[in-house]
Parts: sequence; C-alpha cells; structure tokens
Amino acid sequence: MPKPATITIDGFAASGKSTAAALLAQSLGYLYFDTGVMYRAVAWAVLDRQIDPADVEAVSRLSENITIEVLSDGPDDGRQYTVLVDGRDVTWDIRRREVEAYVSLTASYPRVRAALTNQQRRIAAGGSIVMVGRDIGTVVLPDADLKIFMQASAEERARRRYKEIVAQNKPAKFAEILAAIVARDELDEKNPVSPTVPAKDAVIVNTDDAGIEEVVARLKQLVARFQNGTK
Ligand code: C5P
Repeated sequence: MPKPATITIDGFAASGKSTAAALLAQSLGYLYFDTGVMYRAVAWAVLDRQIDPADVEAVSRLSENITIEVLSDGPDDGRQYTVLVDGRDVTWDIRRREVEAYVSLTASYPRVRAALTNQQRRIAAGGSIVMVGRDIGTVVLPDADLKIFMQASAEERARRRYKEIVAQNKPAKFAEILAAIVARDELDEKNPVSPTVPAKDAVIVNTDDAGIEEVVARLKQLVARFQNGTK
C-alpha cells in the first residue's frame, strides 16, 4: 500500500499534537497544517477591530472577509510558520492569552466554521498533508486515510504548557493555566457544530506518560501499519 495521503490529528488544547504532527510531517516530507491558527486568527481580528466577540453576525461576517495566510517561512525567531491576517504578521499575537480567552467562543459560530472548513479542505486537496485540529477527522476530512486522536489529562497538558511558558522566561501560574485549559476543553467539547470528539475510525493515542520521541515513534508505527494494510 502507498503511504496514507491524508493524515488527521485531532485533540484538545496542549495535547502535544502540533509538535508531534510537525515532526511526523517532516519525516514523511508532507505539508504540516495546524488549523488552530486559523481560529486564533479570527479571534485576534475580532479583538483588533474591537468587534464584540458575542456579536455572532459581525464575527461571522469578519471571518468571511479576512484573508488568512499560513506561510512556511519567515523571520528566524523560533516560529514554525508565519501567520498573516490581511497581510499583517500575527504569528506571535495569536498565541496571547486574550485571544485564547475568546477563540472557543468565536469558533463555535457556524458561519465561522463553514468559512474556515472550506479553506482547510482546499489546502488538503493536494494530499501529502498532516492536518491538525479538533474536527479534522470528523468534519473537515471525514474520508482521510489515517485518523489519530491525541489524549492527555488536563493536569498533564497544563504542566506542559507551564514548562513551555517558563522556558520562554515569561511569568506563569500553574493554577491559571489549568483553569484556562479546562474552560477551553469544555467549550470545545460542547461546540454545537463540531464538538471535539474522536472520529469513529480514529486511533486514540494517549500521551500522558509519553515523551515527544515516543509519541512520534507511535505515529510513525501507525503510518507503517497503514502501509502494510494492517491498520
Ligand atoms: O489547537 P489550538 O489550541 O491552537 O486551537 C485554538 C482554538 O481553536 C481551540 O481551542 C478551538 O476552540 C479552535 N479550533 C477549532 N477547530 C479546529 C482547530 C481549532 O474549533 N479544527
């Protein structure tokens, strides 16, 4: 069998999916695409334009009219890719706490999801892609060859996020990080259009006790099994 043309990796906030997916894509020579940045870009634009995040009509219209670009290059400042909103570099700004506080709300609006889902399907149409998000295996690419759902406890995910922030010499409070993750989980799980749930045919990968090398090795094993026809 050939390699799986389309691989989806879904999971909750800070489940380690982005890092593992990027490494898997690199090893396969595939495109890596993190759909979370698109939802973050919309929330960033809502705040930047001082739109009320609760105004469904205004947020929906905005999401249909902004241009979000994700480029594989950019300044050498530790970024994995560059995110542009209407030509403006927002790569770091979309990671801010204010954006995280509203992203799950604006991501719950059906027209926002429709606008971004269409773009994501166009990006994936060429194949040879690892696409990461919450609803990629269930809604965006239900016919994907290989679907993975990454799981880890909220405490473990908060510990990872805490370490990441401390490593960047930024102030971090574990309890606040954990509370923000639990709040986002709840909204993403209850998202009325695309709740974060594993696809029926997804392989669940639990990363609670696994380091990044171990997780990537497990993903490569799943690709090999697909190729051997023993999925
Ligand atoms: O993965 P990341 O934490 O960057 O995603 C940010 C937010 O974007 C999520 O909390 C979720 O609300 C939203 N999202 C989504 N569907 C996706 C990817 C992300 O609703 N496919």
